[in-house]
Amino acid sequence: MTETAPINLIPATKWWHAEKEGDRIVCDLCPRECRLGEEQRGFCFVRKNEGGEMVLTTYGKSTGFCIDPIEKKPLNHFLPGTPVLSFGTAGCNLGCKFCQNWDISKSREIEILSQNASPEAIVRAAKKSGCRSIAFTYNDPVIWAEYAIETAKIARAEGIKTVAVTAGYITPEARPEFFEFIDAANVDLKAFTDVFYRQLAYARLDPVLDTLKWLKHESNTWFEITTLIIPGQNDSPEEIGRMCDWVLDNLGDDVPLHFTAFHPDFKMRDIPATPHQTLIEARAIALDRGIKYAYVGNVLDGDRQNTYCPSCREIVIERNHYELGRYQIRDGGCANCGEKIPGVFENEAGNWGRKRLPLSIRDTTTTQNHAMEASNHEEPTFNATTQEALLGYARHLVESAILNRPILPTLPPRIAEIPCQGLFVSLKRGHLLRGCIGNYRSDETHPISALLERAAPSVATQDRRFPSIVPEEFPYLSLEITPMHAFRELAETGEDRVGAIEIGKHGLILGRGEKRGLLLPQVAVEQGYDARTFLEQVSQKAGFPKDAWLREDTTLTVFEGTPFSSLPTSQEIDPTSFPRPILEALAPLTNALLSGKPGEMQVPTILNQPCNHPLGVILEVGDHRTFALHAGGSLVDQIRDACRSLLAEGRVPD
Ligand code: SF4
Repeated sequence: MTETAPINLIPATKWWHAEKEGDRIVCDLCPRECRLGEEQRGFCFVRKNEGGEMVLTTYGKSTGFCIDPIEKKPLNHFLPGTPVLSFGTAGCNLGCKFCQNWDISKSREIEILSQNASPEAIVRAAKKSGCRSIAFTYNDPVIWAEYAIETAKIARAEGIKTVAVTAGYITPEARPEFFEFIDAANVDLKAFTDVFYRQLAYARLDPVLDTLKWLKHESNTWFEITTLIIPGQNDSPEEIGRMCDWVLDNLGDDVPLHFTAFHPDFKMRDIPATPHQTLIEARAIALDRGIKYAYVGNVLDGDRQNTYCPSCREIVIERNHYELGRYQIRDGGCANCGEKIPGVFENEAGNWGRKRLPLSIRDTTTTQNHAMEASNHEEPTFNATTQEALLGYARHLVESAILNRPILPTLPPRIAEIPCQGLFVSLKRGHLLRGCIGNYRSDETHPISALLERAAPSVATQDRRFPSIVPEEFPYLSLEITPMHAFRELAETGEDRVGAIEIGKHGLILGRGEKRGLLLPQVAVEQGYDARTFLEQVSQKAGFPKDAWLREDTTLTVFEGTPFSSLPTSQEIDPTSFPRPILEALAPLTNALLSGKPGEMQVPTILNQPCNHPLGVILEVGDHRTFALHAGGSLVDQIRDACRSLLAEGRVPD
């Protein structure tokens, strides 16, 4: 690969002309046709009149780079399972009130464009990291067409494919050049009424339909269509049916349609998330009308994200949340019956999985010193809004697990996709731990939503140290999330390990063979441990003697993580608020029940009164804690049932 212009030599922009009369210039790139006076910027904010010429102010600048699964774009018929190097810039030529990437696309702060990257450096990074393609995404690449085109040209020469994720809002003049080197596109068809486009996106429908027809009939670009289904705005069966009919009449039956779930965001926070059932119905309408490939997105629903052969109905590509299962494509067709499956396929699928890996592309304007490095040790930042969303989603996941209810989508994609190496979810009743489960990978990142979706339901029902959480109890529990990063296996051994640990900063993972124990950083602080005690505790957590950390055959990994938490939704019952006679009667009754001699005790009548609170028994004896909970009935009934369940499960300390 050869170097071309350094990124500070921004190529001249195209698609604009000077007005015949007056001193304005007119942008011909998108149907808005912005008329710009000196120093004025267009609606997209990134194209600007400087000295009577149009300038693209974001050429060579990006909000950041990530390697994603291609299914995330979403593209289900384009090199399935392969990694795609994804990046975007700032600004947008539409004004969607429901924008799911508003912090990027609506940003007028060019400072968010934290990374400089020439097209050559981007292609080099894609090759070096094993990506099969580069995606222009996160914000619409139409407004940074020159940067995208130059990158696509170089990528093609280097055997890397390119993908545009776009609203298709582009003029007929600009279309051919924009898509010439683009191998695949996902076009956002936001709705099928011009009223929707005008009122909710400040745009028009027809130019988008024209782009779709042009892509089908006049380009070689593979494309799929995505519609974000927004409750009450574009979700009527009639509108979805009309849209499908238009696709069939104008594009044919083999353009894949994706119906994805809306999350309340940006200026449309008052509208609820899309019910899963609405997506199911939209997909059913498409299939009934004759569309061969229709998918649901932004929800957990593998069955409706698989690709089925339209001829023999076998699964040809099995998916589970961006992760592939069975892959039955041979020579571009169904391995079972040979039916051609439209798209770009190889006989082997990729195996990138669902992970998301951020990349830092260090680029300079010289031909020297280009470097690309994985930055998966960076601490993910969680502002207050993000923390609130993650905690709310985690509570929802726990509650869904307890009540055996379906999981509804509640995380906006820009939060769901935050890369993270691991996390733990903890539930606490007051200061007592009630459950704590997590998962991590020290060598790669995953979307934080995927980590939460594994940990939160498990903490409700699968922490074997505790009984499962019961619905009546959950409102009294606080929930804490600890995202993990900066994993580092210590080289120190023996006593030297004591000095290598920073209390309050480091969590510990001690292992030998298959066995390992993990303690989060806050445990040492909450329990008042010094480094030596922390090492002893993690040794015991791993199932070893407490001096196991001194042995040379153990490994010790430190990691960092700052927890954040939400309070219980109900006030804990304050035992001291009980009338003294009740308290005085409760303790001996509980002791009698747990010692298996209830018959020896006369139950005071005061305990026969009904209790409206979910009452539980929490016993603390030394380091042992046991819980039991029961709701309903009189105080004595609740105590009796709670003690019975403790005894039945053998969780009463001697
Ligand atoms: S690309 Fe930007 S400047 Fe050009 S017409 Fe569209 S919004 Fe206006």
